[in-house]
Amino acid sequence: MKTNEVEVVTHDVLIFGTGLAGLRAAVEIARRSRDSINMALVSKVQIQRPHSVCAEGGSAAVLRPEEGDNLDLHAWDTVKGADFLADQDVVSRFVELAPKELLLLEHWGIPWSRRPDGRIMQRPFGGHTFPRCTMAQDKTGFFEVQTLYDTLMQYRNFARYDEFFATSILSKNGEFAGITGIDMATGKFMVLRGKAMLIGTGGLGTLYGFTTYSQTVSGDGQAIAYRAGINIEDPEFLQFHPTGLIPSGILMTEACRAEGGQLKNSKGERLMQAYAPKMMELAPRDIVSRSEMTEIKEGRGFEGPRGLDYIHLDLTVVGAECINRALPLIREVCMKFNGLDPILEPIPVRPVAHYSMGGIEVDINGATSMRGVWAAGEAACCSLHGANRLGANSTTECIVWGGITGEQIADYIKTNPSLPDVPQEQVKAETQRIYGDLLQKQGTENLYDIKRDLRELMDRCAGVYRTKDEMSAGLKDIRELKERFGKIYITDKGSAYNTNLINAMEVENLLDLAEMLVAAGLAREESRGGHARYDFPDRDDEKWLKHTLVSYSPEGPKLSYKPVTITKWKPVERKY
Ligand SMILES: Cc1cc2nc3c(=O)[nH]c(=O)nc-3n(C[C@H](O)[C@H](O)[C@H](O)COP(=O)(O)OP(=O)(O)OC[C@H]3O[C@@H](n4cnc5c(N)ncnc54)[C@H](O)[C@@H]3O)c2cc1C
Repeated sequence: MKTNEVEVVTHDVLIFGTGLAGLRAAVEIARRSRDSINMALVSKVQIQRPHSVCAEGGSAAVLRPEEGDNLDLHAWDTVKGADFLADQDVVSRFVELAPKELLLLEHWGIPWSRRPDGRIMQRPFGGHTFPRCTMAQDKTGFFEVQTLYDTLMQYRNFARYDEFFATSILSKNGEFAGITGIDMATGKFMVLRGKAMLIGTGGLGTLYGFTTYSQTVSGDGQAIAYRAGINIEDPEFLQFHPTGLIPSGILMTEACRAEGGQLKNSKGERLMQAYAPKMMELAPRDIVSRSEMTEIKEGRGFEGPRGLDYIHLDLTVVGAECINRALPLIREVCMKFNGLDPILEPIPVRPVAHYSMGGIEVDINGATSMRGVWAAGEAACCSLHGANRLGANSTTECIVWGGITGEQIADYIKTNPSLPDVPQEQVKAETQRIYGDLLQKQGTENLYDIKRDLRELMDRCAGVYRTKDEMSAGLKDIRELKERFGKIYITDKGSAYNTNLINAMEVENLLDLAEMLVAAGLAREESRGGHARYDFPDRDDEKWLKHTLVSYSPEGPKLSYKPVTITKWKPVERKY
């Protein structure tokens, strides 16, 4: 592998991650600047294959005020769903911009599902008290990505960096200067310079063994930003979706329950009757996941493989016509992966790691603490979702804050024409880290064993329910895994598609993220949203109505806290 040449390429703006958030920002920058701002589109997979294409259920927005929905209702559902940890100024801005953004997608050509009268169809979704989930069948993310990609293709002033793995952020005196990364096809190490950057690198799902995310989603953006000195906010709030298919973890979208699917225990009872009698299966995800785990723990589940005990998602009550019309992907997945037809049989499911409410700390405009760097989408935390995200609010968030950050960046470029110098010492240090250290490792530890052990450990110690003992032991084990990581070996020394080396960097990122998630969870002695503890079963607003901030130090994560912005809605007990 060549290490002595570093190719430097300059752009105005780097779009680091081309999921819904990154693509929407890129379109906004192109639109606002009339294609005069030059962009680099950077993705470790093919540009039009971000994980956003997997979003199934839909995107939430108020489109039917004349039928009873309104912005305050969407905001209240979001704040209550968030277990009151959401910043309420952010929520208000979100619900206001959401309808405009979904209609903009409509103008750009997205094939939203339609009602018989031809108007855009919306269906119920978990935690929403009005049917405001807008969808394109059960393939919403795919069509949203395709629509944004097609819209971007009307512009010319960008370069594509498909299959480019970014490794670090470069900065000078607190100001953004560029990123380093590897062109995976050739193995070439490169510096992409820019005046500004959007981080839209998505979630960190593969931190867990049982997850809805594919292997590419490893929280790189969060880990890279953290090491560059940008805070991470609220990492302990990890969402477990109630219906992950056994044993693969593939998502059985909430739309299954929105269309009438029922959750049943081994006695054939609809289990949500005991926990959320009003909203039943469409209570927020934290509540449904906790309920399922209680049923399983108290012996009313079914025994599953590898300890994956489960309950039933019963779609037989929904009927063939509805399944074929509204949930064709779900039926196809059940038949192909489990050999079962949901028209005839119930689906085995359990809570599955699905979404990170926490992320890179940003303000209401998506700006990070590093001048010239914005973040949006799942990688960021502006805190719209607080302690628990409502279904269908994430894809909309990506699009709303993609638009906001795109506007901010376009304005910034207009007024900040200077390009910071490349900090050569940082480039040298990164070259040394990758090629002088990582690639040369001749240890005895297998990287993939470490990754498997980490994911099993996270399933065990930071699942739906957590305890002090489990998290303390988990934190110790994570630190041991970090030590083992220092003794790995990289078998592949080649240049082209050295996935062995890329995987090593991904695992290193996951180890940092695991450490901060568990450290923050251990410190938070209460149960709120996606962070539920057996030893502290109640929400404690007096001590814990605050956001966690995690900053990097060579010794490990440092924790501090900041207040939640409450504008209108005082915390109350959540009942559904
Ligand atoms: C199965 C599933 C179904 C879902 N369904 C819904 C739904 O119906 N409604 C809803 O609101 N939400 C849903 N979600 C959540 C939602 O889809 C995601 O939160 C959202 O799409 C994330 O988009 P993003 O733009 O932040 O990131 P992504 O779409 O994940 O894109 C990340 C980008 O960053 C790039 N990247 C990452 N690391 C690097 C690196 N080191 N170097 C270079 N590039 C990098 C990737 O290549 C990619 O281009 C679902 C999630 C899952 C897993």
